[in-house]
Amino acid sequence: MASFGTTIFAEMTALAQETGAINLGQGFPDTDGPPEVLEAAIAAIRAGHNQYPPGPGIPELRNAIAAHQKRWYGIDLDPDGEVLVTTGATEAIAAALLALTGPGDEVVTFEPYYDSYAASIALGGATRRVVTLRAPDYSFDPDELRAAIGPATKVLLLNSPHNPTGKVFDLDELAVIAGLCIEHDLIAVTDEVYEHLTFDGVAHVPLATLPGMAERTLTLSSAGKTFSFTGWKIGWVTGPAQLVAAVRTVKQFLTYVSGTPFQYAVAVALGLPDQVTIDLAASLQSKRDRIAVGLREAGFVVHPPKGTYFITADIRGVGGVDGIEFCRELPHRAGVVGVPTQVFYDDPEAGRPLVRFAFCKRDEVIDEAVERLTAMGAGS
Ligand code: PMP
Ligand code: GLN
Repeated sequence: MASFGTTIFAEMTALAQETGAINLGQGFPDTDGPPEVLEAAIAAIRAGHNQYPPGPGIPELRNAIAAHQKRWYGIDLDPDGEVLVTTGATEAIAAALLALTGPGDEVVTFEPYYDSYAASIALGGATRRVVTLRAPDYSFDPDELRAAIGPATKVLLLNSPHNPTGKVFDLDELAVIAGLCIEHDLIAVTDEVYEHLTFDGVAHVPLATLPGMAERTLTLSSAGKTFSFTGWKIGWVTGPAQLVAAVRTVKQFLTYVSGTPFQYAVAVALGLPDQVTIDLAASLQSKRDRIAVGLREAGFVVHPPKGTYFITADIRGVGGVDGIEFCRELPHRAGVVGVPTQVFYDDPEAGRPLVRFAFCKRDEVIDEAVERLTAMGAGS
C-alpha cells in the first residue's frame, strides 16, 4: 500500500491549515446538521448507550434505514438480514470489495474515482479497470464500458451522484450499466452517499431499482453527507441477505462495530421530515450557483454539477496547466485550497487541467474565496 501515501484530502486540508487558506478542498460542511440530531446524540450518550452495539447495527437504525429505502425508492428490505450499519461509507466500500473480490478478480469503475476505491480494490488484491467520464458533461462511451468488462470482472462499482464531477447518472446510463451487469453476471456495488444532494429537479435513481438489479446490487450510503455530520462516520449497506452477510463477515474484522450513540442519532435523523433533506439540497444548489458564477468571473471554465458538494473547474482559463501544481501553489497565490482531480484518474492527462472546489460552505466563505481567486486572476 506504500504507493497510496497520504490522501489528497488530508494533504490539502493540512496545506489549508498551514497557510490559513480557505479550505474548498476536503468535502465537509462548515455548519452542523439539524439541532435535534445533535441533541439525540447527546441524549444517547446521557442515556448510557456507550458500549458496543450489535454487530449489524442497532435495530432502531436498521429499521430506519429500511424505512428510508422504502419511502424514497420503494425498495423493500428486511432490516434483520438486508441492512448492515458500517463505519461510514468508507468501511462499507472496503468491506464490500474485500468480501466480493480477491487476487485475479477485476473491478470495473469510472474515473475519476473516489480515492478509497483504488485503495480498497488493492487491499483485496484485485485489479481495477476504469472507464473515463469526460468533461464537460462527464458522459461515458458505452462501448468503452463494454470493453472494460472481461471474464475476470466480478464487480461493477458505481458512484452516483458522483464525486468529484457532480455528475448524476441518468436513467439511460443506468440502463446501460444494468444491462451489462446482468449480461456478465456482475455484482454491482453502488456508492450513493450524495443520494439526497441533487439539483435542478434531477432525481437520484438507485441502480438497485432497475429491473433485474435488486438481487445483484449492494447499495451503500452514509449519514455524513445527507445530514452534514461527516465526522460521525455512520454508513450502511443494503441488499440481498447473502451479499450483506458476506460484507458483515468482513466488517466484523475491520471495526467490528462503532459509534453507538451516533447510531441512535442517525436513526432519529432518518425519521425527520423529508423536507429537511430537500431544504439542504436547495441550499446547496444556491451555493453551486454562487460559486459557479464566481469562478467564471475569476476566469475559470466551470462544469456545473447536478449533485454533490463539488464543482470542477478547468484551470486553463486562468493560465494553469497542471492541477496538482496549481493546487499546491494556490494557497500561496490566492489563499484558497482546492483538490486536483488528476489524482483520481489512471489516465492523468484526462484530468490534468481540472480542479475540484467544495461549495458546502457558508455563503460568506464562498464569496471570500471567489474574491481571492478573482484578485489572483487580475494580478497575473
Ligand atoms: N464515497 C464518496 C463518493 C465520498 O465522497 C465519500 C466521502 N464522504 C465517501 C464515500 C466516504 O463516506 P464516509 O465519510 O461516510 O465514510
Ligand atoms: N469525501 C470527502 C471528499 O471527497 C473526503 C473524505 C476524506 O477525507 N477521506 O472530499
